[in-house]
Amino acid sequence: MVSQLSQAALRDQRSQFHPFTAITDLMAEGPTVMESGSGIHVRDVDGREYIDGMAGLWCVNLGYGRREITEAIARQSERLSFFHTFNGMSSDVVAECAEALLQRAPVPMSRVFFGASGSDANETQLKLVWYYNNLRGKPEKKKIIARWNAYHGSGVATASLTGLPGMHTLFDLPKGPILHVSAPYYYRKAPEGMTERAFSQQLAQELEDLIEREGADTIAAFFAEAVMGAGGLIPPPEGYFEAICPILKKHDILLVADEVVSGFGRLGTYWGSQTYGYEPDLITSAKGVTSGYFPMSVCYISPKVWDVIESEAGKAGLFGHGYTYSAHPVGAAAALAALKLIDELKVVDNVADVGPYMLQALRDRLGQHAHVGDIRGKGLMLGIELVHDRGTKEALPMANRTGRQVLKAAANRGLITRALGDTLVFAPPLVITRADADAIVDRFGAAVEDVL
Ligand code: PLP
Repeated sequence: MVSQLSQAALRDQRSQFHPFTAITDLMAEGPTVMESGSGIHVRDVDGREYIDGMAGLWCVNLGYGRREITEAIARQSERLSFFHTFNGMSSDVVAECAEALLQRAPVPMSRVFFGASGSDANETQLKLVWYYNNLRGKPEKKKIIARWNAYHGSGVATASLTGLPGMHTLFDLPKGPILHVSAPYYYRKAPEGMTERAFSQQLAQELEDLIEREGADTIAAFFAEAVMGAGGLIPPPEGYFEAICPILKKHDILLVADEVVSGFGRLGTYWGSQTYGYEPDLITSAKGVTSGYFPMSVCYISPKVWDVIESEAGKAGLFGHGYTYSAHPVGAAAALAALKLIDELKVVDNVADVGPYMLQALRDRLGQHAHVGDIRGKGLMLGIELVHDRGTKEALPMANRTGRQVLKAAANRGLITRALGDTLVFAPPLVITRADADAIVDRFGAAVEDVL
């Protein structure tokens, strides 16, 4: 097998330590090495073309090779290739970008803080939450609640927030003041026969019990994705945020909306919070802001938090946090071009149309398959959970193996998907048409039948 690898694959295999990759598989099979992309397609070094059903890592929302973005990047690189924002410095393009981002916030926001990844942005949010409570004289209010199955990043603090045990083992992460509550995983965790609304109430009760046990004056924030992504593509059950949010408000706990995947249209509204009708105090975004063309993250800060930071600024002195690549001018130019395209191409409307269409097409194609347990999702964030027995929901033997086999079968049929355990997920570029959705569903349906 290894002898058939291309030069590029061999070079990569011998030299790169890959993130989120099983080293044994990589050594046995070699990497898949891409060389180019256009629209919703990517091509590997062996000349095979694939529909990218994952938009890279849920980020290339506008598809590959968009001249409007690549040219904006090239122009800005020549004009001002770097400047920073420490010590009150800035650049014109960054100022324009910050303003454009605030204009697109789901609820009035006071400021944006830039970084380069979703992980660093969530680290910023954690620090902001603590900073805010210190400034307003609540130094005891520091614990953070996240959820099992959540994904909030790979940094020391954000991996601790992340509710995926596989990211905790062997890394000696400090436990810190982080607590986890149950995932809103209706398919697997709701008692037999319970309605979605009743399950949401049960989860809200669990949250309230935890807050009361720990003491509300010790709890600072609740972090949540709108639809859980990397933890298994889990949309909230009906009434979930409706039940959770009043509890947070009552106990003066900030809601940090992790919109790293859901922001900028993926769920068929501009923001995930608009799909589910809640008002965040802080928003974390990244990925789609530049459509993955440049690493950039954006933390949105509400007036509630900003007003304390601003009014206590004299006392606090220097805000001692930031990254070299916070507010990179080339990233700002990429973001401005991407934001303009999201508006011009009516991307959000497209997702609102194609998302439900694709979900239905998946259900029509695979809904009755003996090993398909659940087909779920929102907008263009869709997942298919494979099981051994659809009646009992018994998991497949050798967890994760079948998911990987389907993934490979799909790749052989020219489709990239992603296996999160035995849940296969889709997060294609937001510009796909109904015909593209049909092509994805056809290739995927055939891949499932190749394996199961
Ligand atoms: N938050 C969510 C919801 C994510 O899905 C991700 C990455 O996929 C992150 C945070 C971390 O982003 P990054 O990989 O850019 O650090």
